[in-house]
Amino acid sequence: MMRRLGSGKLVIATHNAGKLKEISALFAPYGMECISAGALGLPEPAETGTTFIENALIKARAAAEASQLPALADDSGLSVAGLGGRPGVYTADWAERQWFEGEPGRDWYMAMGKVEGMLQAIGPKADRACWFSCVLAIAWPDGETAVYEGRVDGRYSWPPRGDRGFGYDPVFVADGRTETYAEIDPEEKHRTSHRANAFAKLVAEQFGG
Ligand code: IMP
Repeated sequence: MMRRLGSGKLVIATHNAGKLKEISALFAPYGMECISAGALGLPEPAETGTTFIENALIKARAAAEASQLPALADDSGLSVAGLGGRPGVYTADWAERQWFEGEPGRDWYMAMGKVEGMLQAIGPKADRACWFSCVLAIAWPDGETAVYEGRVDGRYSWPPRGDRGFGYDPVFVADGRTETYAEIDPEEKHRTSHRANAFAKLVAEQFGG
């Protein structure tokens, strides 16, 4: 029998205010009170896994253990077929840049350019099929876990288009569309994205009838 969250407190294992806001809004209709790992002063564990599932579980388990409350973490990224699934779990790392002051920053245009450069090096036959993945993991303090996966397939499009999204949105065109994720209405993206997909599975199992 699958463990259920019920209502009450849920730690969101992120230090990112944007992610906390988005996830809290998703859980609000289900009577969950979301608290961020950052607000509780919980440390951020190193993402040492080699899959989205492993990394989401590392983050959820660390937060559940430290807070003694159920915790939810998400791990996501873009995989490109012609690059053997890269950057995948390293999607955020490919945008990492050390600035002169020694402060790390993320440069999405550099990361999108790196992927494009690798595809162009393969040549015109490079497979531009790609997919966004999202794994949502829940961990309870006693060690039980539940995992939900979402995926959206599309194509890697160049040059980048649109300014409405974040990360790799300007180069991602979902199957059946012509606009990139940075050009479509954000409401539509939130209804149909890999994250929405994973969340729908979570809701069906955790809050369904
Ligand atoms: P993490 O899950 O925080 O490790 O980061 C995954 C990275 O994947 C993000 O920083 C984004 O660059 C990228 N990513 C995940 N979901 C999306 C999306 O919906 N649009 C664009 N980029 C995304």
